[in-house]
Amino acid sequence: QDCRSSVETHRICVCVRKRPLNKLEETRKDIDVISIPGNGSLLVHEPKQKVDLTKYLENQAFQFDYSFDETTTNEVVYRFTAKPLVYAAFEGSMATCFAYGQTGSGKTHTMGGDFRGKNQNSSTGIYYFAARDVFSLLSHRKYSHLNLSPYVSFFEIYNSKVYDLLNDKAKLRVLEDERQQMQVVGLEEVFVSEAEDVIKLIELGSACRTSGQTSANANSSRSHAVLQIALRRNDRAGTLYSKFSLVDLAGNERGQDVNSNDRNTLNETAEINTSLLALKECIRSLGQNKDHIPFRMSTLTRVLRDSFIGEKSKTCMIAMVSPSMASCDYTLNTLRYADRGQPL
Ligand code: ADP
Ligand code: MG
Repeated sequence: QDCRSSVETHRICVCVRKRPLNKLEETRKDIDVISIPGNGSLLVHEPKQKVDLTKYLENQAFQFDYSFDETTTNEVVYRFTAKPLVYAAFEGSMATCFAYGQTGSGKTHTMGGDFRGKNQNSSTGIYYFAARDVFSLLSHRKYSHLNLSPYVSFFEIYNSKVYDLLNDKAKLRVLEDERQQMQVVGLEEVFVSEAEDVIKLIELGSACRTSGQTSANANSSRSHAVLQIALRRNDRAGTLYSKFSLVDLAGNERGQDVNSNDRNTLNETAEINTSLLALKECIRSLGQNKDHIPFRMSTLTRVLRDSFIGEKSKTCMIAMVSPSMASCDYTLNTLRYADRGQPL
């Protein structure tokens, strides 16, 4: 079975992926409160208590284009989410895939950007599968006459500032030019000749991302990481043909730090909320084919302007959830955010 259906016929595809309970959750005797019965539906069994203290489970149902259970591999998730976007990029679409969810829910695992050492499976996430397919399509007879070359850029957005992960975290400005194009001024764009090159750049960028961090931004969960593969024509100007973006979003644990006295932390949380709400607004407007897309609301959406504007843009959102009862509130938050039918 292949994945084409949703992203091919619609501009937006929204999926959810549940990870397995981890060791820590198991030792804490935490329980799995999520079931995935099939056909894209997902149920949350939220433990509740009546006034007389009798316990019961409140079931809430959600519907997505696809719901992946804890046995689903990265490769299968890829096949149904980002793979159709790679094909769309070769048809000239601006294509974007987002990993959304609370910290620890599996965003980086799904993207395959977990390069902190020992994990030997790190090259088998969406980053790798997408890069592999880009190269196989470049030489495919259907597309080889287009004369395209792939270029990679990798940057992070932290506190609404852009940092180049392929250039020692240089701080970059985002400017709008006279044709209303958004430019990240000076962003490094590296020509790549095989999928392994892409992986090497991601490893380099991921190491750069986690280096030199202070306690105020101690982990990558507070920034958005954006990997872009631009397909350019082999003409003199290197005309942009299309762009494929993979975005590992900041953790969405909204309000987690509202009691913090640390102004930096409060500021970060506010920034993250602003950008995730802006993203939801943009995706919603895209889904309703609206003329006005509010991409100026945040740096994240400004930088990804091309992903939302234009006839041929296509987007996939993968919402990650933890199965554990302890994360139930966060999980419901994530599911409500991703649920297209619901207002903000
Ligand atoms: P996030 O990026 O959302 O903060 P991670 O991707 O770092 O979360 O995942 C947290 C931990 O859970 C990691 O150790 C990761 O390997 C593990 N994990 C996440 N998703 C899965 C999965 N589907 N199967 C197995 N382990 C997973
Ligand atoms: Mg992560």
